[in-house]
Amino acid sequence: MKEELWTITEITENQQIKNIAFELLAWGRPLAEELNVPLSAVVLGNNLSESVLRELIYRGADRVYMVSHKHLFPFVVENHSNILEFLIKKYEPQIILAGATTQGRTLMPHLSVKIMTGLTADCTDLQIEKNSELLLQIRPAIGGNIMATIKTNEKRPQMATVRPKSKKIIVRNENKKGTIIPIAIDDSFFDNRIEHLGFQKDENEKIDLSSADIIVSGGMGLKKKESLTLINELAKQLNAAVGASREVIDKGWISYPHQVGLSGKTVNPKAYLAIGISGAIQHLAGIKTSETIIAINNDPQADIFKIADFGIVGDLFEIVPLLKKKLEKRKTNEI
Ligand code: FAD
Repeated sequence: MKEELWTITEITENQQIKNIAFELLAWGRPLAEELNVPLSAVVLGNNLSESVLRELIYRGADRVYMVSHKHLFPFVVENHSNILEFLIKKYEPQIILAGATTQGRTLMPHLSVKIMTGLTADCTDLQIEKNSELLLQIRPAIGGNIMATIKTNEKRPQMATVRPKSKKIIVRNENKKGTIIPIAIDDSFFDNRIEHLGFQKDENEKIDLSSADIIVSGGMGLKKKESLTLINELAKQLNAAVGASREVIDKGWISYPHQVGLSGKTVNPKAYLAIGISGAIQHLAGIKTSETIIAINNDPQADIFKIADFGIVGDLFEIVPLLKKKLEKRKTNEI
């Protein structure tokens, strides 16, 4: 078995590296150092420039495997999976990390079946087990009530996906050395039954919780759908995105792309305002990477206060309008 840790790189429509690729390198770097193996980024794309690929090295990669072909962009699961199968057989990496993104969630299960190895989706932590040097793949299980540690004892590679925004990227270092390894492939890898006709963006995606600086989220403390106006208005004043707890989504008060938490989005805004949200473990799983959490809840024992940096105990129907008034005054320079 050759010793190497791989990360799967995703690329944007304009041929840049997606942030998740840098986050994966930040996950992989300490693991590779602990194992004393190179950290390699695998890029499947079409004509990425060397300067773009170098960014992966500046952010932690020792090697960049680059496979370039017109059929590798845009992403088609069968094509990517065929190439990765070939690369895995050739280089035998011991660990592969990918993003728990739409692409990663599509590609990795397909690949794991193809090469008959395990895959742990949506890990929140990754560690190396002492002595065995196995990858410990840690993720919430049983509705988020326990943290399960999963190991791939025999099959290789050990594969895991991690959620976007769950790790800060490594500070860019232009002095970091690394090698770009181009890999030639022929047309036989491509499934000619598949033709990419176009890409239609999901209109709901305009609610970009994952990249918002401020998020104002509402929970069941709002009592009824109409009260969401309070959240929407406050968000507007703060130039923030609107989030919600799952209960609010399940009630149909607002659509699923607004859901924050284990079965919704993981967010890391500068400020997260949780209004009338109890702080269930599944909600906290999605917000714990926020820089500052501010909670408004009328129950001083609510779990949200255990994680909040600032808390206001009181009735949201009194506090939110007061907050809105203050913000309005600040805007008109009265305070
Ligand atoms: P509640 O728990 O009902 O809390 C309402 C809060 O509002 C209470 O703390 C109350 O004190 C407060 N309140 C009431 N009135 C007022 C008032 N006037 N002023 C101020 N505060 C007030 N949940 C998620 O959010 N995201 C997920 O992704 C998610 N995934 C899940 C996945 C699984 C497998 C499971 C089993 C559950 C999941 N849940 C998720 C659900 C989660 O367990 C909770 O049920 C949910 O988060 C509770 O939503 P809530 O805090 O809005 O409601």
